[in-house]
Amino acid sequence: MKIAVLKEAADEPRVAAIPETVKKLTALGVRVAVERGAGARASIDDCEYEAAGASLGDRTEVLKDAGIILSVQGPAPSTLKDAARGAILIGALDPTRRRDDIDAYSKAGLQALAMEWAPRITRAQSMDILSSQSNLAGYKAVVDAAAAYGRAFPMMMTAAGTVSAAKLFVMGVGVAGLQAIATGRRLGAQVSATDVRSATREQIQSLGAKPVFVDSVAGIEGEGSGGYAGEMSPEYQAAQAELVSGHIAKQDIVITTALIPGRPAPRLISDAQVATMRAGSVIVDLAAEAGGNVEGVEPGKTVVRHGVTLIGAVQLARSLAADSSALFARNLYNFIAAFWDKEGAALALPDDDEIVTAIRLTNDGKVVSERLKS
Ligand code: NAD
Repeated sequence: MKIAVLKEAADEPRVAAIPETVKKLTALGVRVAVERGAGARASIDDCEYEAAGASLGDRTEVLKDAGIILSVQGPAPSTLKDAARGAILIGALDPTRRRDDIDAYSKAGLQALAMEWAPRITRAQSMDILSSQSNLAGYKAVVDAAAAYGRAFPMMMTAAGTVSAAKLFVMGVGVAGLQAIATGRRLGAQVSATDVRSATREQIQSLGAKPVFVDSVAGIEGEGSGGYAGEMSPEYQAAQAELVSGHIAKQDIVITTALIPGRPAPRLISDAQVATMRAGSVIVDLAAEAGGNVEGVEPGKTVVRHGVTLIGAVQLARSLAADSSALFARNLYNFIAAFWDKEGAALALPDDDEIVTAIRLTNDGKVVSERLKS
């Protein structure tokens, strides 16, 4: 069995394998072929892959006879002409937005696996690319906010007077939000946070931050379905808007991360609320690509409204390409190792496995994912 590791498109600096995972894959008995230059933007030199046991080649060479193809983003179908029918393509394939590409993979006879659709069950935790990348995005959002903020984060008592601590508010306490809280605390900010899921209250407190919750209308008890939030009732939204209005005017930094799977991101901050913040404040919206939690935010851009800097964060994990590649690559290795059939020296992907059915998009020239069919 041969595994191909692709060099990504120009806008994607991450890579789907690192020398450590190449060594581990080789130990499973496979040959790993890495496209020349694949790791360059994640600070990995070709010779490091070679030293780990991989061969190097161009796209045609690495794809030839490969049974498994590893990528971060789904590669353009036109660049996979040399892939064998039946090969398994594994990556963050973005199935809903890139439906045409999925159909093209299907036509080419590839078995496409979208790792971002892995279920949130304990067994899949080590393969969870959403969590590994969100964690880094939460960290980077705070670092970017600190860079854009014209004041300091920690309280400083100096001979020339006192600098007061920045007040940082995190909206949406999933994986990214928790890391944003932890990073804000490490930098010395006074941190508060909110979510619709009641289970997050204790998590916020355990990180030394203050929970700010809607009490008059019930939120989502426990973790919510599959760990995710749903859309809230109009009553809840009104109570939340009032709560935010009271709180936000006193904040210097706001990090929003609220997402609802399969739906546009909930609107949490209006333009009028932005206007109540003092000049020089910063908002980083991690939901910018999904429609944005904040009115006026533009995905991939930084704009200033009412003296407040609005950062429409997009794919922040990319800006930490060495670390995000390492975590992504380990997620993929963990998946392969979990389903590796030693005797057959191949991936064994049972039709009745919960993880397999969730991530498998195409097989035998057909689109098989129920999510894509519905
Ligand atoms: P997410 O990216 O889908 O959303 C981010 C946060 O926004 C969530 O906490 C959500 O509750 C919150 N949110 C949604 N609507 C909101 C609103 N109107 N106002 C305020 N907040 C709102 O979430 P995520 O980071 O993917 O994590 C969701 C949960 O899943 C977490 O509890 C996480 O620990 C859990 N999880 C479990 C596993 C596993 O068991 N394998 C893996 C990853 C995450």
